[in-house]
Amino acid sequence: MYNEYKIARNKSWEVLIDVGIFELPVNLSSIAKHYNIQILSYNDSHIEYSDIEDGFSVKINGRYIIYYNSKKPVARIRFTIAHELGHCLLNHIMDNEITFRRNSETDNSMDIKEIQANVFARDILMPAAVLHSLNIASASDIAKICNVSMTSAEIRYKRLVELRKRGMFNSHPLERKVHNQFSEYIKKVSDTGNI
Ligand SMILES: [Zn+2]
Repeated sequence: MYNEYKIARNKSWEVLIDVGIFELPVNLSSIAKHYNIQILSYNDSHIEYSDIEDGFSVKINGRYIIYYNSKKPVARIRFTIAHELGHCLLNHIMDNEITFRRNSETDNSMDIKEIQANVFARDILMPAAVLHSLNIASASDIAKICNVSMTSAEIRYKRLVELRKRGMFNSHPLERKVHNQFSEYIKKVSDTGNI
């Protein structure tokens, strides 16, 4: 279980590094573009998936497509897309099979792939070591700076407080690399005090 968690977490760092993401809010389109993953709204694709509330992914002839419900708030859509990117990049999807979010960002299901996709989504949208260096002081800071929902931000903030107590930042080489990549951005935000 802890191993699966680590795989998803490490993948989020690898992706941030590979794509060269250096600022918040994380640009999910550039991640999708980098891996040749198409992102389409239900509207754009003229499909009606009322039974799949937020979004899902398919792999057709080796290419991933993420479909999302554009009627949801932007912050929630961002989490859905990040979650689906997790399914794609963690190889959860078989050719011509549909994979979808079972529930919401607070989904407590024990399905390991869902847990991994949520870990990936949280870590890619809200990289903990970066938030720590930005001296984030509340969940609403996180919601604002990462363009995520308050629900997601609160979960991340709780974790951040825990990690701070344990001094657990940048102990992994991949996390250090991510942090390095964001160093100019961290400096800029700190200089202007503009969270
Ligand atoms: Zn899912």
